[in-house]
Amino acid sequence: MEPITGQEVNHSISLFDQLQSNEHEQIVVCSDKDTGLKAIIGIHDTTLGPALGGTRMWPYTSDQEALRDVLRLSKGMTYKASVAGLNLGGGKAVIIGDPRKDKSEAFFRTYGRFIEGLAGRYITAEDVSIGLKEIEQIRMETQYVTGIPESVGGSGDPSPVTAYGTYMGMKACAKKMYGSDDLSGKEVAVQGAGNVSWYLIKHLTESGAKVYVSDIYDDKIKQVTDHFDVKVVDPDDIYDVNADIFSPCALGGIINDKTIPKLKCDIVAGAANNQLDDEHTHGRKLISSGIMYAPDYVINAGGLINVANELEGYNAERALTQASRIYDKIVEVMDYATENDMPPYEASNELAENRIKAISKIKGIYASSSP
Ligand code: NAD
Repeated sequence: MEPITGQEVNHSISLFDQLQSNEHEQIVVCSDKDTGLKAIIGIHDTTLGPALGGTRMWPYTSDQEALRDVLRLSKGMTYKASVAGLNLGGGKAVIIGDPRKDKSEAFFRTYGRFIEGLAGRYITAEDVSIGLKEIEQIRMETQYVTGIPESVGGSGDPSPVTAYGTYMGMKACAKKMYGSDDLSGKEVAVQGAGNVSWYLIKHLTESGAKVYVSDIYDDKIKQVTDHFDVKVVDPDDIYDVNADIFSPCALGGIINDKTIPKLKCDIVAGAANNQLDDEHTHGRKLISSGIMYAPDYVINAGGLINVANELEGYNAERALTQASRIYDKIVEVMDYATENDMPPYEASNELAENRIKAISKIKGIYASSSP
């Protein structure tokens, strides 16, 4: 299986060829004329368990663009769940629509009925433009939904767990790079002052790190500066900060041809999804620039760990304990990368695939020994 990040879907090849080229199991196209619902559910791989991944609502300009996104994102979830050691497969869904105009209770309840029809092969959660309100509406029609509000027994905001996992992963990087995971005195440049960053900066400042932060909104910066002693940097200047660690916690694609030459850090370790503009090119460019990269889906798996916990009855302490194991996982990825002379992103992809292969063999044994 080749990761498909950054790879275009070829419009001239058939739907089945598109699915088979990255070993997707199933695509479910959902359409409802009355509510205007148009959704695609992508189930990439269920070897480890039901496919879990959020639903994203976006005004895609074509069905192909939506299909491309759901194929890419659902495959990414397979890798994230596998490396995190969860008994979950990879899935994701996209709704084609304008989040400001097309939302209604009937719309999301209709969507929930489609999910229920999959009988647990796909479990949904929040993603871009899908928040707690929509999740509650989907939940009226299906039990296969997670990331529900704390008020109804759910796990609520995953950001604290994501931030804790990211912090532990950052410490693991420091251990590999400097021989000690003590971050006191280390300088960390955090891009974005949103939900994850707030908690991450709390951990960093408490551990004695010196933090630089940037955001495009002043109110977001203020939420951080009201609580923590940090240095504010212009959004365009965050790449140039002479810090030990650069922590992308805002956007994807920010490690690219333009930004890599600016970086002065030893380590890139942050919570943002899809940080490498092109996995292959920029993963290798970081190596040749002497920069250690913590694969994004390994270090930011705390959010997934949090919602996965809810499926077993949510326990915040257990979720944090599981997220703390991201430390060991990052060490394992870095060691595997060194032993096999490959960039860390490739190492984590291989580790994810190896686990799926190993578990599929066990399942084969079950299948052949059962009556
Ligand atoms: P958020 O929306 O709360 O924060 C993102 C922040 O980035 C916002 O304050 C935004 O203004 C800022 N921003 C946008 N463009 C910027 C730019 N060019 N320069 C500086 N700042 C900019 O989101 P979040 O929940 O904190 O998530 C942050 C990242 O982590 C996202 O990429 C998200 O996909 C990823 N992630 C989040 C979780 C989670 O649990 N929330 C889990 C896994 C991954």
